[in-house]
Amino acid sequence: METRTPLSVYLPFNRECLGAAFVPAKHAPPPAEPRGRWLLVQSQGLVVVPDGGAFRLPEGEVPAVLDGAVGPPLCLGTLEGTPCWVAAVPAEAALPSGFHRETLVPMQGTRLPDDLLSLGGMAMQALHWQGTSGYCPRCGAPTERIAGEWGKRCPRCAYEHYPHLHPAVIVLVKDGDRCLLTRKAGWTPGRYGLVAGFVDNGECLEGAARREVKEEVGLDVTDLRYVGSQNWPFPSQLMIGFVGRYAGGELTVDRDELEDARWFPCDDLPSRPSRHSIAGFILDRYARR
Ligand SMILES: [Zn+2]
Repeated sequence: METRTPLSVYLPFNRECLGAAFVPAKHAPPPAEPRGRWLLVQSQGLVVVPDGGAFRLPEGEVPAVLDGAVGPPLCLGTLEGTPCWVAAVPAEAALPSGFHRETLVPMQGTRLPDDLLSLGGMAMQALHWQGTSGYCPRCGAPTERIAGEWGKRCPRCAYEHYPHLHPAVIVLVKDGDRCLLTRKAGWTPGRYGLVAGFVDNGECLEGAARREVKEEVGLDVTDLRYVGSQNWPFPSQLMIGFVGRYAGGELTVDRDELEDARWFPCDDLPSRPSRHSIAGFILDRYARR
């Protein structure tokens, strides 16, 4: 019986990679004064302080860079007992000297360590939720935050909703000693990844995996095995990883979705997805076995 926790839980963007050091704010009232560590998000980057070859978060009072340009900061939780505050910095704002914006996007070659990627990912999700939940999706009235939760409640019609995560499956298809990889237009030349797509209404995860493989590359897949998951805050996906076995069909590339798809020998794969992503994790661990 498989009882071990999949190692994918420690991928960046999964809160578990912060361990017990991080305690989410969800069930505690935020401190009255915004003071602590700052998760300042500008576009898809995190504002950090370069410090001897590493990066650290700005600390203390509201950094001058905010300067009234953003709304009230959100309390994300505590890191080693210190409150962490989230705020957006306008895309056009110039950062003062001593600050640096480092991309949070793995495919853009982020240099952030896993803990800052995970905190920055949660910060992006908090801001995304804040920016999209201000009005009731049912009646259009301004919503109010539910005490102690990220959820929002409509004072007019009582509709409640909570941060939206969108489940998406990602699948490595294997056939003996070869792996099926795909690439989308616009990716770095030569880079290939895995079949992936959103779960539809009425689908289970395995059904979504089978359908996506059929739609994107025309193949049937069987023996689907769950191998891990990753929270992916661009802006709000939950990636659920599978390895499956080729069960028939002709390789037919859906040119609306993909630029190319092909079989590669498992011991001679092309340029891979980032090690920060579950696609990289799956290929590293499951391509050869
Ligand atoms: Zn309403």
